Amino acid sequence: AKADGRNRFHFFDTSLDAAARRRNLIEQELRAAVAARSLTLHFQPLVDSGSGRIICAEALLRWHHPTLGTISPTEFIPIAEDIGLIEKIGAWAIREGCITAASWPQPIRIAVNLSPRQFAGTGLYAGIADALRDSGMPPARLELEVTESLLLKTNALVESTLVAITALGVRVALDDFGTGYSSLSYLRKYRFDKLKIDQSFISDIETNADSRAIVDAIIRLGHDLGMSVAAEGVETEAQYDILRRLGCGEIQGYLVGRPMPGDELEKILTNAREP
Ligand code: C2E
Ligand code: CA
Ligand code: CA
Ligand code: CA
Repeated sequence: AKADGRNRFHFFDTSLDAAARRRNLIEQELRAAVAARSLTLHFQPLVDSGSGRIICAEALLRWHHPTLGTISPTEFIPIAEDIGLIEKIGAWAIREGCITAASWPQPIRIAVNLSPRQFAGTGLYAGIADALRDSGMPPARLELEVTESLLLKTNALVESTLVAITALGVRVALDDFGTGYSSLSYLRKYRFDKLKIDQSFISDIETNADSRAIVDAIIRLGHDLGMSVAAEGVETEAQYDILRRLGCGEIQGYLVGRPMPGDELEKILTNAREP
């Protein structure tokens, strides 16, 4: 019985070990990847729902490891946040996004995701101002995506940083809207330029009248508060048509374009240029 117990314990210990070992490995390899500058950005287009023209691109981090393969940002970003690497990665993403988009043949906006952790110090504002200056990107073409979790607690530093970023002329978007904590009070506290409706509401708008009603209400709410509204995760023509009819101004999703390397998007923008 004693040996049995030990074996059982050993079994659980090993499965816990596997997760911990993966986590340690990713931590270590992420530090190395950042030092070697091997993270990259892909860019996913957002189109105007009426004209179908590309008006914005969202920068999304990509990490391809030589032996581990492609590691999702949903795995490595929380780890980067835990080990204090997100400030550096995030500042690089803003800078790289601005430099890349500044060379594109059409003056579309570039959207960059921000982790709440990036608001902890005072480096964020300076990093944004430097990126704009060095890239020559007009501030109004930079859009920063934040999530509801940033505004969960009252925080003077977060609020003053958001005000300062807005004063620069940079746009701020509320990402993944409708998920998370579903408190609307922060819409009164801070004036966002854009709401992005989370893809979980989009996936069944064709078949689920409740989802359609929620999306309809979010679009009206956004517009009534002076914000533009984007839908993410749009995969079908039917979803696109419903969103356009409901007045959603911007569409993002595999239907209109997957995340792609910057030079690929640049080619699309070049070919779509009016003669
Ligand atoms: P997100 O900001 O909500 O980004 C949208 C995610 O949905 C992206 O996943 C994108 O590839 C995916 N997506 C786009 N269109 C479709 C579609 O039609 N269908 C489906 N099923 N998915 C679609 P990705 O690139 O894996 O990024 C995941 C998350 O990682 C992002 O979610 C964001 O929270 C985070 N992330 C990515 N890059 C950065 C970054 O530079 N900084 C920070 N802080 N977070 C980032
Ligand atoms: Ca986003
Ligand atoms: Ca999102
Ligand atoms: Ca999301």
